[in-house]
Amino acid sequence: MVTTEVTERTGRAYQVAARVTDPELPMLTLADLGVLRDVTEEDGVVRVTITPTYSGCPAMDTMRDDLVHALHEAGYREVDVRMVLQPPWSSDWITEEGRRKLAEAGIAPPGPAPRRSGPIPLTLTPPSSRAACPKCGSTDTEEIARFSATACKAMRRCRSCAEPFEHFKEL
Ligand SMILES: [Zn+2]
Repeated sequence: MVTTEVTERTGRAYQVAARVTDPELPMLTLADLGVLRDVTEEDGVVRVTITPTYSGCPAMDTMRDDLVHALHEAGYREVDVRMVLQPPWSSDWITEEGRRKLAEAGIAPPGPAPRRSGPIPLTLTPPSSRAACPKCGSTDTEEIARFSATACKAMRRCRSCAEPFEHFKEL
């Protein structure tokens, strides 16, 4: 039987997990990114389910450690973080709040993700052509580097105002 007490406890655990931020994009929480899939509790063990943003993302180990630490600090002693690869994460899962935060940080949010099935290597994703400049809003922009500080972002330059900016790629 699930009691109200357990439900509230699990709900609080979700709130704690949802506030953990992405190590590479600290303005975004795991909930903003759509990486946080589920938080459940069984026999006192908090089970957190996350989906990596892309295969081999180096930030995932840090996310896992940060989740465990945040939940330990909130009083949850037993924490189990699980990775679920199916269905694969898509940049479409980034919430409206997440897109707003990206834009505020000067990073062009991703457009609609290409249709696909299964995780795809980053190198094969087609270049995006419609990222709008976060400074002036122009869509006359060009990609100047496929990867920037992190693999999920490209560097672009605005042809209208010449501003270089990062673009979260459609994945
Ligand atoms: Zn511009």
